[in-house]
Parts: sequence; C-alpha cells; structure tokens
Amino acid sequence: MRMRTLVAACGVAALALTAAACGKDEPSAGGGNSGGNATDSCGELHKFTTATGVDVAGSTAFTKIKSAGKVTVGVKADQPNLGYKDADGKRCGFDIEVARMVSAGLGIDPDKIEYKEIPSANRETAIAGGEIDYYVGTYSITDKRKKQVSFAGPYFIAGQDLLVRKDDTSMDAGKTALKGKKVCSATGSTPIQRVKDEQLTEASNISEFKTYSECVSQLLDKKVDTVTTDDAILKGYAATAPDELRVVGKPFSTEKYGIGLPLADKALRDKVNTILETSASDGTWKAIYGETLGKSGSDSTPPPLEKY
Ligand code: GLU
Repeated sequence: MRMRTLVAACGVAALALTAAACGKDEPSAGGGNSGGNATDSCGELHKFTTATGVDVAGSTAFTKIKSAGKVTVGVKADQPNLGYKDADGKRCGFDIEVARMVSAGLGIDPDKIEYKEIPSANRETAIAGGEIDYYVGTYSITDKRKKQVSFAGPYFIAGQDLLVRKDDTSMDAGKTALKGKKVCSATGSTPIQRVKDEQLTEASNISEFKTYSECVSQLLDKKVDTVTTDDAILKGYAATAPDELRVVGKPFSTEKYGIGLPLADKALRDKVNTILETSASDGTWKAIYGETLGKSGSDSTPPPLEKY
C-alpha cells in the first residue's frame, strides 16, 4: 500500500502516472521523516549555515545568482530518499540536501531555492539554456554529457541494477537474464542507453518513460518485467512497496553522481567542488547521507572528486 501513497504524492508533483498505480481510492497519509524510509511525507531538513561574503571571481553564473538573491535548481521529485516531493509539496532526500548545501555554500539561504523538476532527458538543455543554475538529481558524469555541461563531484557512486516483482526470481542473475524480458527505464538516462548499446534485451521489449515512477507503475501492473536504473533509486521504490517489489542486487555499472553546471563556468565548478570537499572533511556529507539515503541503503563515504 505504501507504493500507492508514494504515487499519490507523485501525483501532486505533477508526474504523469497511470490511474491504476495512482491509487485513486487512497489519499496520501502522513509519515514523518526526512524521506529516509521512503515514506510519503518529508520531515525535518538539515540545518545549514549560509555562508557570508561569498564571491566567485570570474563566474558569470554566480554573478547572476548573487544579483537574483536566489538559485534555481533542477531536481527530481519522484525518487524517494534522493529527490522527492511529498503530498504537501515539501521536498527531501539526499540530492535535495546536496542542492541545499551548495546553495548555503554560495551564500544563498536554502529556503530561497527555486526548484524546477527536470526529467533525465532534458537536463543538458536546461543547464545549457540557463533555465536552471545547477542540477542535482542522480545525474551521472559521462564524457558525452561533458560536451554540453560541466560537473562538480562526484558526490555519490551508484550502480545500475534491476527492480523486479518480489516473487519473480527469473532475473536474479542480473543483466545476463534480461533477454526476452520487458525492460522499462527513463528516456535520456545512462541505464536505458546501456540496455540498447549492449542489446541486453530485444528492442521491441524496451519501454521508455519520462520518469522512473511511471516504469514502477508498469511493473506493478505487470506490463513490464523489470525497471532498470541506479540501485540507489530502485532501493527507494522497493522500500515503498516491500511486499511487492525488490532490487536484484547485482549492480552492473558505475554511476558517478555529479552536480550539473554550465559548461564554460570553471570558476563555479571549482567553488562547488570546494563546497563538496568541505562537506566531506567536516562531517556534513556523512550527516546528510545518514539522514536520507543511508536510512534505506548501506553505509557509504564521500567519493574522491574528479577535478578538471
Ligand atoms: N544516473 C543515471 C543517469 O544519469 C540514471 C538516473 C537518472 O536518469 O537520473 O542517467
């Protein structure tokens, strides 16, 4: 039933979901944590100290942020523990906390963040077109994307995995078991690209949606056999419906999560990397991870930054 409350919350986030999985009959109920257990209600957010007197010499993007007195951040809204928006419109999760931490480090009170929900396929366009100042949402650093945007980070490392119906053991071998299976993933994502590039299943068996929650609805409705994306995302969905879903647990890629930034703004990238570096050394990274993703996943540590 938890999946139904998740989907109800997602409906508020204006995601296109199927009526069957939206659980029209069941309104969202209160839960009360910071998204850590993938319940449907966001709780207390981390308290960051907003930096004062910040200047980022040579950054056009920062000049714009400073004069606006706010940041516009691209996020996901349907990924429990990562980027999530509850039925009351409150946001929480590890990516949200990273977004808030960066804002505070840039001298902008995190309450002043203007969030924009941008699906996987539209991230490069949103950053390159100046629609958002930066993006935090399970965004893998790849060479291809680096041609259009730049990345600070990584701030987390995930791996592609499979979400299946709990009683289905036919894909327990992982990616080699996908032939003949109906596989669902999000348009513009690295996981769907991998399924295609490595021909893990037949082209006719691949379904693409704008968001992963749409794929989860398909899985619950038995229209597909599996949802594939990063394990960190899938664990959040499994936790919302533990009686119906589980993650196979055989990751088959390395997904380094970066903060997406305008391509040419090296000064801002360096500054955001410094914010991440400080969060790793002063315990902030550990605290926000523990308050969000760490509750449903395993222990983790901040990965080394790839400065370029
Ligand atoms: N990390 C992968 C990607 O950036 C999958 C998750 C997502 O679509 O956000 O494509």
